[in-house]
Amino acid sequence: RSKNHGGNRITFFSNEMNEHAVSRFELESYLRKALQKQEFYLMYQPLIDLETGGIFGSEALIRWNHPKLGLVSPADFIPLAEETGLIEEIGNWVLRTACIQNKKWQLQGHRNLSVSVNVSAYQFQQPGFIKEVKKALNESKLDPCYLTLELTESTMLDNIGYSIQTMELLQKLGVKVSIDDFGTGYSSLSYLKNLPINTLKIDRSFINNLRLNTSDIAIVKAIITMGHGLAVKVLAEGVETKEQIELLKELKCHYAQGFYIHRPLQIADFEKGLEKPTTLLN
Ligand code: C2E
Ligand code: MG
Ligand code: MG
Ligand code: MG
Repeated sequence: RSKNHGGNRITFFSNEMNEHAVSRFELESYLRKALQKQEFYLMYQPLIDLETGGIFGSEALIRWNHPKLGLVSPADFIPLAEETGLIEEIGNWVLRTACIQNKKWQLQGHRNLSVSVNVSAYQFQQPGFIKEVKKALNESKLDPCYLTLELTESTMLDNIGYSIQTMELLQKLGVKVSIDDFGTGYSSLSYLKNLPINTLKIDRSFINNLRLNTSDIAIVKAIITMGHGLAVKVLAEGVETKEQIELLKELKCHYAQGFYIHRPLQIADFEKGLEKPTTLLN
């Protein structure tokens, strides 16, 4: 985890807990070289269907392993990548890599497995974005219906007209769209009605403390009901207890994701997860 001193130096703790303070400028120059030096990789967190308990897909999550800084959290470098525009190239790499990996898993027999990829605002607003999505699909030969792009409310609301247009183009391609961290932004219900989306991902801040008789349960219940009404799927992120899973099942939430089910996994561990059926849900 990094520590921001409010100035322009950021401290990282590498695996050995050595402190490394770097300036923003240094961090940016490291980030510039990271793709070429192959310092990025993806982890895959299983997404499960609460009805069957099975894994139906994964969310691809980027990791940056820098030789000096150690593992840098996406929360620390994605904002910098956005500010510098580097996110375009990084985002395209994520898209391509996730599609290729998912296609590989399908060819290994998991034919209906899907993959979700986070798309940042800057990336989404690039004029060449749709072309990059098509490129990733062509290159990987992944059927578009197995790719979901995760957008946040603020990404869409930045320029709502343009966003809807782009989302409609994605839908035409057959790609799915989900709203990430739902409930933390300001999208009004009237917007929601007009958005061409397939899934709402309830932000983990509503799920982390989810227990009976809390206000969170009222909110989660409302979002699930709305999802059913709008005919979109609802996924709860950040499930950390058995009780939360039970509640979500009772509330007829479609999908879930969280540390209690599986943490983000390396490729080999994800494959093991695919092989053995989940027993968590019984
Ligand atoms: P996100 O898209 O909302 O991803 C979910 C985050 O919640 C992940 O953190 C995941 O590890 C974490 N998480 C999952 N289950 C639990 C749980 O039960 N408890 C808790 N406390 N956390 C849980 P991660 O991987 O550190 O990613 C953080 C954020 O960084 C992501 O939030 C996303 O906004 C961004 N990000 C990650 N990968 C990419 C990427 O490839 N491109 C872009 N643009 N953003 C990315
Ligand atoms: Mg996400
Ligand atoms: Mg999320
Ligand atoms: Mg989140």
